[in-house]
Parts: sequence; C-alpha cells; structure tokens
Amino acid sequence: MDIEEEIRDYFATVEINLPDSMKLLMNLKDKFNILDSNAHAILESIKTDNVESEKKRAYLYSKIKEHLNSCQKCPLYAAESHTQKVAGEGALNSPLVLIGEGPGFDEDKMGRPFVGRAGQILTTILNKLEIRREKVYITNVIKCRPPQNRTPMQKEIRACSHNLELELSFITPKVIIALGAVPLNYFKSGSSIIRERGRWINSGEYWIMPTFHPAYILRQQGKALNRVKWAIWQDFNKAVEKAKEMCPEYKYS
Ligand code: SF4
Repeated sequence: MDIEEEIRDYFATVEINLPDSMKLLMNLKDKFNILDSNAHAILESIKTDNVESEKKRAYLYSKIKEHLNSCQKCPLYAAESHTQKVAGEGALNSPLVLIGEGPGFDEDKMGRPFVGRAGQILTTILNKLEIRREKVYITNVIKCRPPQNRTPMQKEIRACSHNLELELSFITPKVIIALGAVPLNYFKSGSSIIRERGRWINSGEYWIMPTFHPAYILRQQGKALNRVKWAIWQDFNKAVEKAKEMCPEYKYS
C-alpha cells in the first residue's frame, strides 16, 4: 500500500486533496524508501552533494516536468506561439535561483530557459562570477511562450504560479534574482523595475534581488548601455555574495 492509499484508508476517504508538492514528496519517499516522515528532513535529504541525493533530485525533476507537461491551466497551452512547455533547469539544491519572464522563440524551440541571445548574456555574467550555469536553478514565471513574445497577462501569471511555486518548494532557495519587471511584480506587485532594481526585498521566505532582464541590455546603446550593464553586474554581485554568505558550503563551480 503506498502512502496516499494509507492516508485514504486512515481517513476512510477515496479522495484526498493534497498540494502537488506534498504528492511529489510522497512519491520521493516511496521511491527511495525514506523512513523519515518529516517533510523538512526529506527535503534536506536532497540537498547534499552525494550520489544518492543526486538521484533523488533527478527523480524529483522528472516529476516536476511531468506535472508541468500536463498543465492546461491557461489558454497559452493551446497558443500557436507555443510548441512545448519550458521547465526550469539547473541544480535543485542551489541556494540561488534566477527567475525570468517566460520563454521566447529560442526557448520554445529548444525547450530550455534562457538559451537565446539574452540567455547567452546571462551565462556570460554567471561565468564571470565563476558560477557554472548548471549549479544554479534558472526558470521563468510562465512556462509557455505567449503570442509575439508579449508580456504575460496577470491571469496567465496567476494560473502558472502553481508551477513556479512547485519548483521553489523543492529548491527552497535563500536568494532569488528577479530578472525584469514580471518576476519583480510576482513577488511585489505594483513595483517599477527602474525604481526597485538593486534593492533587496525580503519576502519572509527568500531574499529577492530585482535587476533588469538581460534582454534589456540588447536594447541599449552608448552611455545607457554601460549604465545598464553596470547595474546588472552590481545586482548579480550583491545576490551572489548574499547566497554565499547564507550557504557557505555550496559549490558553484
Ligand atoms: S503558461 Fe503555465 S499555466 Fe499556462 S498552460 Fe503553460 S504551464 Fe500551464
């Protein structure tokens, strides 16, 4: 009898309405015969840098993708602009998570976040900070490409939040870099990226550092280009420094 069946049996019910994160945690517990039933302890068991934890992370990641791929919670799943859902990628045990807006043309084509020109800029910044891209987790607020790469609507962001929250519930990052206005407003609605960039937001769960989306660099010229590059560089440095301070044992290279 698996754990869900046990619970159903215990409460004498056929239907239990558990949050998705709890269901996945139970899948993990069953799959790896984890005896501990404390959710925090199970989550901690995926954090360490050993082969067993890596296997658990790979399993969880496959389950997160499965969950995402079945999502039809907003009309974007049927939009012509969208060919596949784009899950986040990287280390599920990273203290640092980067969140962008949504997939663009290249991301939709490849099924990976931040692989177009903006993604190349992002990878360059991380490399300059001596961070391997695979050692952080990179994702987006929404997972399907909107038509003409338009900004996602509030109702789409709300509908997709269960996917982002599922990712965050397993990673439990210390620091989040919000890349642009959409992720900034996800955490602090009514905010302007021009005003808020570079200023810490403490959500209670995470420290959030808002900065410009790397694609913003591509639209700048002359002095403005240097200003934007410098701002992003400073914001990334602050975020990485805090993540390292809060989790000194984690290796980014
Ligand atoms: S954008 Fe998000 S909520 Fe909408 S269909 Fe895609 S995965 Fe589901």
